[in-house]
Amino acid sequence: METPLQQLTDPFLQERQVALWIKREDLLHPEISGNKWRKLKYNLQEAKQLQHHTLLTFGGAYSNHIAATAAAGKAFGFKTVGVIRGEEHLPLNPTLRFATSCGMQLQYVSREKYRQKDDPAFLQELSEQYNQPYILPEGGTNTLAVKGCTEIVKDISIDYDYVCCASGTGGTVAGIIASLAGKKQVLAFPALKGGDFLQKEIEQLVYNFCGQTYHNWQLITDYHFGGYAKVKPELLAFMQAFQKQHHMPLEPVYIGKMLYGLFDLIQKGFFPSGSRVVAIHTGGLQGNAGFKERLGVEV
Ligand SMILES: *Cc1c(COP(=O)(O)O)cnc(C)c1O
Repeated sequence: METPLQQLTDPFLQERQVALWIKREDLLHPEISGNKWRKLKYNLQEAKQLQHHTLLTFGGAYSNHIAATAAAGKAFGFKTVGVIRGEEHLPLNPTLRFATSCGMQLQYVSREKYRQKDDPAFLQELSEQYNQPYILPEGGTNTLAVKGCTEIVKDISIDYDYVCCASGTGGTVAGIIASLAGKKQVLAFPALKGGDFLQKEIEQLVYNFCGQTYHNWQLITDYHFGGYAKVKPELLAFMQAFQKQHHMPLEPVYIGKMLYGLFDLIQKGFFPSGSRVVAIHTGGLQGNAGFKERLGVEV
């Protein structure tokens, strides 16, 4: 489970004396991409161990986690059930088409019902309905997921000062923080508006995993572009230029926003001269097809 580090050669970086590497977690697996594979790894082992035959999880209609769980179920011999927020829209979007092609059974629930996704009574109901599945929370984040995400930074062999990572539920960055155990500086870029709630969330996830509280990390909340899965022309323009220059595919929900933010921080002199930065490419490229279909924009 090692992934390459790609150094960016860029006159802009050279000028500001910041060295930047991208950890290409998007190359981890062709279908179970990036951090979702890291989050699933120990959960799949646990599900096998406990002799579950089915994985059940939650997500929106474009969810990377839904796609990854469907692919993982197919690859490792589990049935899969996706509880999807909102109504069914036909034809299925590319994410759900992919999920069903992997054999995932979809159950649509209203937005109100979906809010009960962590409610024990609703989980019990689903558990009975689907014959005692192994239940993964939305986004796949739990303690075993945090454990899997500790491995993202373990094979980095270069010396560095900062790690940057996009955040949704905070599970991925919690694993990175726990793994670094107080060393380096970690910057988490929330993909949601009002990402400050992640401060407590991430702290709790780290604590639940390793019983420690670390302070060498911070949230960078200024680069949500209006909210989850929302985009603006300047974001798309940045991504297009970046992809052309560095021959690296991006997606706009997490990675594009994080990199836009990171470059903006570099521009503003956030990083001392000589800083060495590793940014995690957490994958998620499967979402681009749906993005194009939904908004008609090429990413
Ligand atoms: C899900 C996802 C994230 C966010 O991960 P969390 O562990 O929920 O914070 C980041 N990047 C990509 C590409 C993702 O699919």
